[in-house]
Order: sequence, then structure tokens, then C-alpha cells
Amino acid sequence: MVGAAYREVLQSLAYVNRIPTRTGVAASDVRSGEVGMRDYFHNVYMTIKTILIGMRITLKYCFARTITLQYPDIAPALQSRFRGFHYYEIEKCIACDLCAKACPVDCIYIEKTGARKIDKATGVAVGGAMTRYAIDYSKCMFCALCVDPCPTDCIHMGNLHDMSGYDRESMIVEFTELATQGLQTPQPFWMQKKDLPDWVKKTRQDWIDRGVPVRERMLEALEEHQPVKKK
Ligand code: SF4
Ligand code: SF4
Repeated sequence: MVGAAYREVLQSLAYVNRIPTRTGVAASDVRSGEVGMRDYFHNVYMTIKTILIGMRITLKYCFARTITLQYPDIAPALQSRFRGFHYYEIEKCIACDLCAKACPVDCIYIEKTGARKIDKATGVAVGGAMTRYAIDYSKCMFCALCVDPCPTDCIHMGNLHDMSGYDRESMIVEFTELATQGLQTPQPFWMQKKDLPDWVKKTRQDWIDRGVPVRERMLEALEEHQPVKKK
């Protein structure tokens, strides 16, 4: 009986001794000193290898040819998932505040006169009037966290990348005021000049054209409207 218990203790001690190290070498072997060096050099090799893998793209660009784009004469190369100043479809907004709640810096301001909901007959929001939808771009981080929770898909990250102002107040964009002009996204001062490169004229025209089909709906969102009753 005692002999069996003694044998079990010896077996468990032998098991602990064989627990492998990071390199798969048994602890008992490491203690011998001989394999410890192999473990050490393996760790050095793995460190250098993983740093080189991580730096591969950085090193590639270190030795790439530098190209200077003559902006604003030449359009900047924006990636397809670029997150610029928003564009906002007021006619679909139900003023649910989900975007404002998701915003980590509290820079979305929404005011309405009453509850709004999507009218199934027309597909646009009705109910109370939108009296304010504004974003303070002096705080916005362009994280897009406001976009995903929107239940009606009416707030989007746009392709405007360049807007400046003379003071902090001018960085607050009042989208409800833009809606009175049929616009969904702000137009920076520099885009309102006469002599503009072709790509700027086209970009600005695209923004204007996007709002044209829903111009009437945008104006309606600024007033109270009740749903159209089914006959
Ligand atoms: S992009 Fe981010 S910081 Fe800017 S309004 Fe949306 S949630 Fe807020
Ligand atoms: S989440 Fe969408 S529908 Fe709700 S308030 Fe924001 S923009 Fe309007």
C-alpha cells in the first residue's frame, strides 16, 4: 500500500520535470545548462524575426520613391474607406439620438419638436420637425462610430477632407441650415472660389447633385409632417 503511494509520488515528480519550456524543451534538460543556450539563441532569433515581419511594410516605404502631389491643383488620392466630413440625409433621420449617444466626444447635437418615424408609404421620416442637427468638427475624431448605429442609414462619412475656419464656432456645421440650401455636406470656404481646379468643381457638383432629387423632402423634414394615411 505504502509502496504504491510512494511510486505515484515519484511518477508525478517525473512528470513535472518533463514540462516543456517555450521551445518545447523539457525543464529538466534546461537545468542541465546545455539546452539553455539553445533556448536563448532561439528567443533572440524569434525576436529579430517578428520585428522584421512587423517592420516589413514600414521598411518598404522607407526605400520607396517620394512623390509630391501638387494639391490642390491635383486631387489627393483618397482610399475607398476614407472617413471625411459627414454627409447627412435629413429626410431619413428619425432623430433617435443613437448617433449622438455613440459619439465618444459628444459632438453631435440634435433637436426636434416631436417624435419622428419612417412613413412606410413614402420611405421618409415624418412627425416632429428637425430643428437642429449639428456636428462640432473641432471635437470630431472621424471615428465613424456614429454611422453604424443609425437605424435609417442617414449619416455617412463623406469624402470632404479639407475644411478650416477662423474660430472654433465656425467648425460647428449646422446640417439643418445646409438642408435649407439643398446641401447634405458642408462646402469649405476655399471651394467657394471661382477659379478652381476641375476635380474640385466636379466634386462640388457631385455633392450638389446628390441632394437635388430629395430637395423637397429635405425642406419637409424642417417642418412638422404627419404620416400619409392608407386608404
Ligand atoms: S465620427 Fe466619431 S467623433 Fe465624429 S461625430 Fe461621429 S462618432 Fe462623433
Ligand atoms: S442615428 Fe440616424 S436616425 Fe438617429 S438621430 Fe442619428 S442620424 Fe438620425
